[in-house]
Amino acid sequence: MLTGGRKTVAAGYARRAARRPSVRGKRQTGLRINARRRRRYWQDPEGARARRRRWRRANLEAARAAGRRHYAANRGRVLAYHAKYRRRNRHKIDAQIVVKAGIITGDLVRGPCEVCGAHPSQRRIHAHHEDYGHPLEVRWLCVAHHNQLHAGMLCLLPAAATRRKMLG
Ligand SMILES: [Zn+2]
Ligand SMILES: [Zn+2]
Repeated sequence: MLTGGRKTVAAGYARRAARRPSVRGKRQTGLRINARRRRRYWQDPEGARARRRRWRRANLEAARAAGRRHYAANRGRVLAYHAKYRRRNRHKIDAQIVVKAGIITGDLVRGPCEVCGAHPSQRRIHAHHEDYGHPLEVRWLCVAHHNQLHAGMLCLLPAAATRRKMLG
């Protein structure tokens, strides 16, 4: 069979690329699309993330299905990623365990978000730690405000107990 020179070069490249361990099993079209997406992402990372968030909100079911497909296809890597996070953030995980235990025993009661007042019955409320060394000292925040706080977009007033200490 006769093939054009360009095509042969491309086919040769594809064959060699497919043999490289990092891309084995991936289709070349996929690689090209990923390269284009990466380029577009780095042209405007902020905008790309904002567009992605809007798309996700508008296509929640499709986004969740895509997440499930990604997990099914990359289970090992996803689990390894989470295991690494847990190893590196042991103190945070331990504080979370103490909070969960505290809620079960009734030592802690999940309150409304202290920023917007969202109630635990309506919205998922997180326990935020200002100091992971004091796992029972928590600030209750809805997921949105908790994310904003950790992104540096939000600033909380000192907790009531801290304010009392400051006043003496
Ligand atoms: Zn909130
Ligand atoms: Zn937090």
